[in-house]
Amino acid sequence: MISRSFLASIAATLLLGGCATTTKPGAVGVTRQQMMLVSSATVERMALTSYAQQAQQARSQGKLITSGAEYDRLLNIANRLKAQVGVFREDTPQWKWQLILIDAPVLNATCAPGGKVTFYTGIVRQLKLNDDEIAAIMGHEFAHALREHGRERVSQAVAQQAVTAGALAATQNSQAQIALANQFAKYLFVLPNSRQNESEADSIGLELAARAGYDPRAAISLWQKMAAASEGKSPPEFFSTHPANATRVNEITALLPTVMPLYEAAGKQ
Ligand SMILES: [Zn+2]
Repeated sequence: MISRSFLASIAATLLLGGCATTTKPGAVGVTRQQMMLVSSATVERMALTSYAQQAQQARSQGKLITSGAEYDRLLNIANRLKAQVGVFREDTPQWKWQLILIDAPVLNATCAPGGKVTFYTGIVRQLKLNDDEIAAIMGHEFAHALREHGRERVSQAVAQQAVTAGALAATQNSQAQIALANQFAKYLFVLPNSRQNESEADSIGLELAARAGYDPRAAISLWQKMAAASEGKSPPEFFSTHPANATRVNEITALLPTVMPLYEAAGKQ
C-alpha cells in the first residue's frame, strides 16, 4: 500500500531532479553520473516494504533462517564486506543493514536499496560456493545498493513516462495505488540491470571483496559455476538477470591487477 506522502514525495522530486554520482570512485574508478528523479528515502521505503513482505512470507512457510552455522557463515562474510563500504560511501556504514536466509532451492541473492540482503540456501548449496565466491556474489549485490541502481531505474521509468503522471495523480483509488507500487517494484526487483550497471557492480564488488580479504579471483570461478548451472533444466534466477558472458569475465580479469594488491594487503593485516 502506498501512502499519499509517498506519492507527494515522488511529485516533489520530479520537480527537483538532478545529476550526480552516488559513490566515490575507489581503486576501480567508477565515476559515471546518474540521473535521479526520485529520492533515496522513497525508494528505500518501497524496498523495505517488499523486503519485510518477503521475510514474513518465508517465516510463515517455516523457511526463514536467522541463526545457525549456515546463517552465521553468510553473516560473517556480510560483516567483513560491510566494514569496507565506507570506501565508496561514507553514509553506508550507518545503514540498517539486514541479512535474511531463505531455505529454498532458488539460485538467487539480492541486496535491496538501503542494505537489505537476501540469500537463498539454493545458490550456496547447489553451486557449492566457497567463502570467496559468496563474497563475490554478495559484494556485487552490495555494489548495486551502494550505487542505487534501483533508484536509477525507477528514475528512468519516470523520465520515459513508463510510470505516468496519470498514475501518480490517481491517489484516491487504492487499486490504482497498488498498481503503481507494482509498477515500481518491477523496476526495483524484476527487470535486469543494464550492462553498464552490471559492469559497475562487478567492479565495486571486486574491490569490496578484495579489501575484506576475500580472493577476488573467485569472481571468475563463480561465473563459471553459474554458466555451468545454466545449462541444466532450470537455469538459475540469478543467471537470467546476470549473464556470465565473455564481456563480464574479460572485464573482471582486466581489473584483477588493480584489486589483487588490495587483497594481498588485507591478508597481511
Ligand atoms: Zn547485478
